[in-house]
Amino acid sequence: MSATRPLREAIVDLDAIAANIRTIAARVAPAEVIAVVKANAYGHGAVPVARAALAGGAARLGVADLDEAHELRAAGIDAPILAWLHDPGADFASAVDRGIELGISNPAQLEHAAAATGGTPARVHLKIDTGLSRNGVAPEEWPAVVTRAADLESQGRLAVVGVFSHFANTSRESDAAQLAAFERALAAADAAGLRPALRHIASSEQALRDPSSRYDAVRIGIGMYGLTPFGDGTTGSDLGLVPAMTLRARVAAVRRVPGDTGVSYGHLWRSDGATTLALVPLGYADGMPRHATGAGAEVLIGGRRRPIVGRVAMDQVVVDAGDLAVDVGDEVVVFGDPTTGAPTADELAEAAGTIGYEIVTRIGPRVSRSYTGAAGRPAEAGA
Ligand SMILES: *Cc1c(COP(=O)(O)O)cnc(C)c1O
Repeated sequence: MSATRPLREAIVDLDAIAANIRTIAARVAPAEVIAVVKANAYGHGAVPVARAALAGGAARLGVADLDEAHELRAAGIDAPILAWLHDPGADFASAVDRGIELGISNPAQLEHAAAATGGTPARVHLKIDTGLSRNGVAPEEWPAVVTRAADLESQGRLAVVGVFSHFANTSRESDAAQLAAFERALAAADAAGLRPALRHIASSEQALRDPSSRYDAVRIGIGMYGLTPFGDGTTGSDLGLVPAMTLRARVAAVRRVPGDTGVSYGHLWRSDGATTLALVPLGYADGMPRHATGAGAEVLIGGRRRPIVGRVAMDQVVVDAGDLAVDVGDEVVVFGDPTTGAPTADELAEAAGTIGYEIVTRIGPRVSRSYTGAAGRPAEAGA
């Protein structure tokens, strides 16, 4: 029984991924959903998550770099994939060969994409910087880029599938200014003769809040994983989403201690009175943020939420179990689906002064991963 269960485990519910995509797709229709599976699907596992997202109705996949796109192709995933972050030496030819669509952020990349054309023209999405000041064609270069792209397209050297941008998530006013800049960029593309089928700017936050941001497609990352894109206290549950990842471990040791017992490095916490301490084998090496030290983060243990106390260490944390009957080997859920009583990754993030995105993406390599749910799996494996 428990002996075969891993000490530390991240369990990803693929049905939750598919359900979240369905929920969001219904909300944003007729815009299509681009499921963002960069960074190993925010730590959830790129290939199984991509398959589940497609099963849930995503029309295409989005990744940052070409290695991530090739990983999906190598696994046999043939859905459209867009990759948008390239170094100057990126191998566009093999990407075009594998049918990977290229986000284009500067004139050099546009030429590189046109030159990569073998049998079929490169399929590109031109990215305009509307105010994030990160990736994307600078506004002053945009007219020349769309003119050149139209020229290359008419020569059959590339196909402009999309025009896109990305929000800075700063304020509604700043979003509105970015939308206006996007409109100007689209008008310039149109005037140059481009007719991109996919205009897209929204990620989860704007897609879920602002219908005017949806255009032809929305790029959904965090919402698909069931976590919130919002910093205003709106939870994933409020949005009808279910966290896909559960992080759990087994109690490694239990100790009954008297009052005024110092716990973990620096004795940052001392017991008020006699209590039971449960040692949980998850530390910052496993993605438990050290900044959660003394921050009131809780876990689900023995059916109750109990606090992590003292310094978060590399390999372990201590939970103050109070007078709960806790045994070595008992399950401790660090985060998961709130309907089970567990805290969410967003709650742990809040305690640690970060965002849910970072919590799930940084689960460490010692944590074994497993999958539940059938979405996107071959039928015989779904039982
Ligand atoms: C990561 C990313 C997204 C997804 O953002 P979420 O907030 O997770 O939905 C969308 N677009 C781009 C360009 C990104 O880098």
